[in-house]
This record gives sequence, structure tokens and C-alpha cells, in this order.
Amino acid sequence: METQASFRTRLLEAGILFPTGVDGLWGRNGTFEQVFDGLERAITAAGADHGAEVMRFPPAMSQATFEKSGYMKNFPHFAGTIHCFTGDDRDHYKLMGQMERGENWMEKQEPSGLVLSPAACYSVYPIVARRGAQRGVLPAEGALVDVSSYCFRHEPSLEPTRLQLFRMREYVRIGTREQVMEFRQEWITRGEAFARSLGLPFEVDVANDPFFGRAGKLMADNQRSQNLKFELLVPINDGAGPTACLSFNYHMTYFGDTWEMKTPSGEAAQTACAAFGMERLVLALLRHHGFDLAAWPAGVRKTLAI
Ligand code: AMP
Ligand code: ZN
Repeated sequence: METQASFRTRLLEAGILFPTGVDGLWGRNGTFEQVFDGLERAITAAGADHGAEVMRFPPAMSQATFEKSGYMKNFPHFAGTIHCFTGDDRDHYKLMGQMERGENWMEKQEPSGLVLSPAACYSVYPIVARRGAQRGVLPAEGALVDVSSYCFRHEPSLEPTRLQLFRMREYVRIGTREQVMEFRQEWITRGEAFARSLGLPFEVDVANDPFFGRAGKLMADNQRSQNLKFELLVPINDGAGPTACLSFNYHMTYFGDTWEMKTPSGEAAQTACAAFGMERLVLALLRHHGFDLAAWPAGVRKTLAI
């Protein structure tokens, strides 16, 4: 079996990834994007019968939304904030000098009001919460959204599957406990069928998010013992455990409480999401079927329409 480094090296040598000089930040070539586009189509097809509402977002969200979502409480180590120059001519002159001398030039960089999105579904909740004749009260059928966004997480790594900026596609369900639990179970089954249709070896296992700090350990243990998160894992990097390519998250009333979303009977809405890590899925396919797309199994090519 090849080593993890050699998979990355082979991706670089084949020109599939372009190095940027930053760990976890890669450019990608046409082959990679062809598979990516195929996956987008296949994910749309996998959920087509649900008639989800489509929402697409830029890679950033408002600072206010980000703050209210509570991300900094649990994952301050992942967050990325956007800062911009706010000085005058004098400050600019000073900045140019600092840059030339290789000094810190960031002192006049001020918060822009934008924060990089940590997860695609975070942008959905405040929008759904503003809807309805009675704000935040869901219709009886709840809500189902097909969302995608670039996401940022500050976790630099040499593993080609661990990126700082990556694309996340999600189906997000908002409704009663029954609606949300049924959705998650359904999507675990659909996720498994999806992986099978791509010819990928996988396992589904209970998981936890990497919560920050000492309190985080407790949060992670709770998340596991309550079965709040499952992942579909595919072996991609040799010499390392399998990689989570899909996540199936149940948030209970966390976002319902945060954004004051209610079911028609007045209870706090519950939410769940099925999240696809797009680059990881592309890499899983390249790892298992090789770099020559024309030589991939016919069934896989058909699923991706490539
Ligand atoms: P999560 O919100 O952590 O469950 O992430 C949803 C999905 O995004 C995961 O199942 C992964 O496939 C993908 N993902 C998470 N973190 C990264 C990362 N650093 N690089 C690439 N993909 C990621
Ligand atoms: Zn989500």
C-alpha cells in the first residue's frame, strides 16, 4: 500500500492539486473539478424526490449571525475572521513601509463585519427563522433546504483531505423531533447507498465534533453518548484512520432555541443536517478508482454522469 505522503505526492505530480505554500490550501485542476461537478449532480439526484429548497451562500456570513450561532463558545480554534484596512493616507504610507521591511502591517486592519462560514447550514437557520406570518413558526411540514457554501476551518494539515477552505453541501431539516429524526435516519441510509453507488468502501460510526478546551471533552463525550453525530468514513490516507466524508448531525433544539424557530404547536423546532465534504469525496474517488477517469467503473461514471 502506498503511504499517505505518496498519495499527496502523486496528486501533486499528476497536476491534480496545485500547491499554494499553505498547508490545507490547494488549487485543483480540471480533472478534480470534473469529479466535483459530477458529485454535485449525484447529490442533487440522491435528494431530488424530497423537493428541498435550494440555497447557495458565499464563503462568509455576517458577524452578527456568527456570534449568535454560538460557534466561538465551542470552536474558537477553527474560526476565521475577515479584517480590512481602514486607515487614511498616512496609515497607508506607514503600512507600505512596514510591508517592505517585513514588519507586522496588520495594525489598521479592522473587523469587516464578515466572518468566514464554518459550516454551510449556519446560514440557513436565521433565514428560515424570519419567515412566516408569525415569525419563526414553521409550517406543519417543517422546512428542508439543500445548501452549499465554502467553509473555513483553521486546521492546517499536510493530509490532502484536511483543508482550511473546503466546500460543504448539506441537506438541512427543520421541524418536529419526529420529522428531524426520520430525516436523519433516512439520510444515513441514503448516504450509504450513495457511497455504494460510487464504489467506495465505507463504514458508518458514531462521532463527535472537536470541541475546544477542557470543557470540550465533556461536550464531545455527551455528543457521543447521545448519538448526536454519525459519520460515513472512507479509507483515503494510508497510515491514518478512515476519513469522514459525510456527517449526519442531530442538533436537538440548539438552533431552534438560538433562532427562536417553533413548530406549529409552539415547541422549539429541532434540526438535523446531512453534510457532504465535497473535496474529501473527490479524493476518495481518486484514491480508489485512480486518476484516469475514463478507466473508472462504468457504474461510478454513470452515477456521476462523467
Ligand atoms: P462537520 O460539520 O465537521 O460534520 O463537517 C461536515 C463534513 O465536512 C465532514 O463530514 C467532512 O466531510 C467535511 N469536512 C469537515 N472538515 C473538513 C476539512 N478540514 N477539510 C475537508 N473537509 C472537511
Ligand atoms: Zn450542518
